[in-house]
Amino acid sequence: MEPNKRAILEGRSITKHFGALAALRGIDFSLYEGEILGLIGPNGSGKTTLFNVITGVYPPTKGSVFFEQRNISGLKPHKICQMGIAKTSQIVQPFTRMTVAENVLVGAMYGGRISQREAWEKTYEVLEFVHLDKLMNVSSGNISVPDRRRLELARALATSAKVILLDENMAGLTPNEIEEALNLLRVIRDQGITLMVVEHIMRAVMGISDLMIVF
Ligand code: ADP
Ligand code: MG
Repeated sequence: MEPNKRAILEGRSITKHFGALAALRGIDFSLYEGEILGLIGPNGSGKTTLFNVITGVYPPTKGSVFFEQRNISGLKPHKICQMGIAKTSQIVQPFTRMTVAENVLVGAMYGGRISQREAWEKTYEVLEFVHLDKLMNVSSGNISVPDRRRLELARALATSAKVILLDENMAGLTPNEIEEALNLLRVIRDQGITLMVVEHIMRAVMGISDLMIVF
């Protein structure tokens, strides 16, 4: 660890049990501000569970999560989101009967106390940024896989998160689409957003990560 680096998110001895199953055992990690932390590991090794613990979907059985030096373990998901941590889901789950823009608007409203007008402004800004502006009035059930992946990212960006956790956001993409997705992550990182990236595709994670954790 370099002394000039500041950890924005830290996990200390995180353990998560589901009944008799230990999905996570004593996990430690540090996510440094402005960096990309890659996380790889086989199916069932607890990557998604770690994201769920960080974002408050489940409280940890033991251990703590610190965001900007504050212990956030056990806080509710909406509270953690408003503090500045958002995640994309491994299973893409847009509200399929809503348009692309409405899905992003939900992220903008969920992220904090802003007016409806500000939420729409944020929505348009993010849609343009991820190149979904042309599809904004299309029902999100009718868009392609790479567009759905970008929509997931757009929903997270719309919350104005400082930290975004990406759970296999490149699954199902072609090599060219992966390259595009990686470039977009670099631009997001360069804007000062800190990223934690779970990916099966080792090459993809290694290409952008400042640090890697192997589960
Ligand atoms: P990964 O994302 O690395 O594939 P997961 O975190 O999804 O791994 O799963 C880790 C382990 O925890 C698996 O054995 C999985 O079946 C189990 N698990 C995950 N979520 C739950 C849950 N809500 N209830 C019970 N078991 C779960
Ligand atoms: Mg998973």
